[in-house]
Amino acid sequence: MLANRTVLRALRTSRSNATYATVSRLLSTLAVLEHRGGKVSAGSLPSISAAVAIGGPVTAFVAGADSAAVAAEAAKLEGVSKVLHVPNGAYDKGMPENFAPLLAENIKAGGFTHVVCAHSAFGKNIMPRVSALLDVQQISDITAVKDQNTFVRPIYAGNAIATVKSSQATNVITVRGTAFAPAAEGSNAAPVEQSTVDPNAPQLCEWVEENLAKSERPDLATASKVVSGGRGLKDKENFDKYMPPLADALGAAIGASRAAVDAGFADNSLQVGQTGKVVAPQLYMAVGISGAIQHLAGMKDSKVIAAINKDADAPIFQVADVGLVADLFTAVPELTTKLEAEKK
Ligand SMILES: Cc1cc2nc3c(=O)[nH]c(=O)nc-3n(C[C@H](O)[C@H](O)[C@H](O)COP(=O)(O)OP(=O)(O)OC[C@H]3O[C@@H](n4cnc5c(N)ncnc54)[C@H](O)[C@@H]3O)c2cc1C
Repeated sequence: MLANRTVLRALRTSRSNATYATVSRLLSTLAVLEHRGGKVSAGSLPSISAAVAIGGPVTAFVAGADSAAVAAEAAKLEGVSKVLHVPNGAYDKGMPENFAPLLAENIKAGGFTHVVCAHSAFGKNIMPRVSALLDVQQISDITAVKDQNTFVRPIYAGNAIATVKSSQATNVITVRGTAFAPAAEGSNAAPVEQSTVDPNAPQLCEWVEENLAKSERPDLATASKVVSGGRGLKDKENFDKYMPPLADALGAAIGASRAAVDAGFADNSLQVGQTGKVVAPQLYMAVGISGAIQHLAGMKDSKVIAAINKDADAPIFQVADVGLVADLFTAVPELTTKLEAEKK
């Protein structure tokens, strides 16, 4: 491995096309996939596109009991060269105490130069531990790949964009899902290989249970339309009265500002922003949300931003494509009725 790295360093200093081809061949990326209900999570698909943009072969990594169907689905994704599969129930819930050593050992065994994962709760839980185990610095929440060593990432809640250059032998990267197109399922038929590296180290933590908020609505992180409610709704009763009918009329997911979540109007899985989810739907409608920078950090890349606020000076109107200065308690029911009527 050391010899390989020395060669790689020497090759990187040369500028000839022939050398570039050799360097590309030495690149290899492990794309860690999340899955739920026997399917690859939609949030993992953009990280494969990021891996493809880095260059070199892309190995998808799938772990968990009964995950053969997920591995088979991953093998069909465009850009995947191989699937590394660990069919072991110890990794089912993505417990970082179990998953991080598994990944670190597979990365070392495979000699991967890059490891990518979605910047989701799963990725944010696991990748810092992987970085620590490999003794490298994580490169978080990238929005673009300039070249194999250079990545773009927002900092200060998206108010500045940093371009970072890595000189590390292994780059552990999390990927902002809204910044890359999701990898498409195509006619690809990559081989699925069972990994022989499975430390399955005994852990002090065990999985007990999960309580998931169930919803028939589209998933907030990947929905094409999102309606979000803020403190302007005043209380949970109003949030539940006004937001679901509007979301249903539009076929949208529901989001919320942190103020609304902190006040108990909505579940914290619905929070949009710097410390919540980052979304970039075709339409984002902010209802009774002022537009604090921490909220904008989670939605300002939306294609069309609409806002309803009674304060004409609310900062949300500075980023909105369409704005309505009105009392939401009048405007939202009126809009909902009109949208429902248009559907008929
Ligand atoms: C470290 C840190 C991280 C944070 N992370 C996040 C985050 O991830 N997401 C997030 O959202 N915030 C986050 N915040 C909080 C953020 O700074 C704001 O406090 C929060 O976004 C405000 O939420 P809001 O717009 O719902 O409430 P407010 O700022 O109180 O705005 C309410 C708006 O409703 C309007 N309104 C009131 N009544 C009506 C009515 N009847 N009709 C129409 N409009 C009405 C008002 O004019 C006002 O503009 C973070 C803050 C910090 C310090």
